[in-house]
Amino acid sequence: MSFKEEINRRKTFGIVSHPDAGKTTLTEKLLLFGGAIQEAGAVKSNKIKKTATSDFMEIEKQRGISVATSVMGFEYKGMKINILDTPGHKDFAEDTYRTLTAVDSVIVVIDVAKGVEEQTEKLVEVCRMRNTPIIVFINKMDREGKEAFDLLDEVEQKLNLSVLPMSWPVGMGRRFQGVYNLHERKLVLFRAHGKQEDSIEITDLNSEELDKQVGDAAAKELREEVKLIREVYPEFEREDYLEAVVSPVFFGSAINNFGIKEMLDVFVDIAPTPLPRQTEEREVDPFEKNMTGFVFKIHANMDPRHRDRIAFMRICSGTFERNTNYLHVRQGKKMKFPNPTTFMASKKSVVDEAYPGDVVGLYDSGNFKIGDTMTEGEELHFKGIPSFSPEQFRYVDNADPMKQKQLQKGLVQLMDEGVAQLFTKEINNRKIIGTVGALQFEVIQYRLKHEYGASCRYEPVHLHKACWVSCDDAVAMREFEKRRKKDLAKDKDGNLVFLAESAWMLKMAQDNHPEVQFHFTSEF
Ligand code: GDP
Repeated sequence: MSFKEEINRRKTFGIVSHPDAGKTTLTEKLLLFGGAIQEAGAVKSNKIKKTATSDFMEIEKQRGISVATSVMGFEYKGMKINILDTPGHKDFAEDTYRTLTAVDSVIVVIDVAKGVEEQTEKLVEVCRMRNTPIIVFINKMDREGKEAFDLLDEVEQKLNLSVLPMSWPVGMGRRFQGVYNLHERKLVLFRAHGKQEDSIEITDLNSEELDKQVGDAAAKELREEVKLIREVYPEFEREDYLEAVVSPVFFGSAINNFGIKEMLDVFVDIAPTPLPRQTEEREVDPFEKNMTGFVFKIHANMDPRHRDRIAFMRICSGTFERNTNYLHVRQGKKMKFPNPTTFMASKKSVVDEAYPGDVVGLYDSGNFKIGDTMTEGEELHFKGIPSFSPEQFRYVDNADPMKQKQLQKGLVQLMDEGVAQLFTKEINNRKIIGTVGALQFEVIQYRLKHEYGASCRYEPVHLHKACWVSCDDAVAMREFEKRRKKDLAKDKDGNLVFLAESAWMLKMAQDNHPEVQFHFTSEF
């Protein structure tokens, strides 16, 4: 297969949802279709149970699962499909945001009874920032839930997406009978817990067979609804989807394997192949000969005796080859990888080659940070892997004077992995950890102890937000720095950060220093 064909058959995407909407179940069904796994239950949920706040075994187990499920690849209809796993727990939202920088499209799973939930809103917002094409899957149609038209409205309003139904449910809950494929004008009927193969197909909605199969009332309703949809919604245009202007919507039941094939078949047809990506210097096209890639996720080994980590790199252009020297741009040094791994469902294997859209796992002894770029020599820096403004803060102090070095090293490595963000205050050099969720504080303390033998102590610090600041006017900036010295800190890369004690303080600072810009992500 030619290099070009390899790229054109790759589809790299992520599934996002509020916890419990059915992400794991859907992932598993997709892998079953692809033959990557043989039986249900093979994919472990990467969920942290609600009771797990102080259950560290659960977190450790979790990390084990998330290594195994970081990338799940499978083949379907000649396509190589890569699913990138995203944690659903809100405290790990930053992990999810970063993973979304490495995909070319997403599928959003929504629970028909719960509708659009908080976490879904946040994640879709991140997708929209990046114009990522989105397909929506409304799950659990075998349960009573919201009316389909109402749900479409809710999705449009809360997620700010223009939707276009591509399949349509016949009833729901106990009355759920199947989905009509609006695209192919074909009805597939659901036989409870039956396999897709047992289903009955009807291609002509006007045929009496429909009444016979689903009953007069349901048949009448379906005919009316389909007519209405055809009047209200325009024909599907792939361009609109690729430009993230329109989101196709499918209905189904993941656990019953219903409506999934309809979606997957359309997905492999329409989903984008690896897209060009922006660097600070220029746009990189996947078809370029030279290899480029960036690290979007780092996993520490869970065995404290082996301090190596796996850095997950998305290939953006060229062919990645095993045992070949590449330039680690930030460190300005050449590195080669004897054992790069890819993941086919839960199976890990060493790869000789990987193509744009693929993700390789690189064993690393502490060289990588999130966002690092690898090339064949060109000085490029991939953009779009920002840190997000954290919302929870604590002072971190050393609790064991004999272990200062270990603490320092542990903190730096955990921050490189992207577990949290570290800020150093300008006036007194005190260190503040900022996170998106509260769980991270406990994770950090636990991992410092177990992996680095260091102890840390937290002290409360009353902060509302940390924002990066910039200003074109050097004089105004100096004035700002002078007046706000006590609220300023540096992030891990030495960028200036304003620590706002309250929303009001932030607003005051913005009003008093109109020349200064306040940014809520580290890339601006
Ligand atoms: P995740 O948190 O989004 O990964 O959700 P899971 O895939 O773990 O599913 C959460 C729960 O919903 C599990 O108990 C699933 O068995 C159940 N579930 C998933 N899909 C369906 C469905 O189509 N119908 C019903 N009734 N339950 C489902």
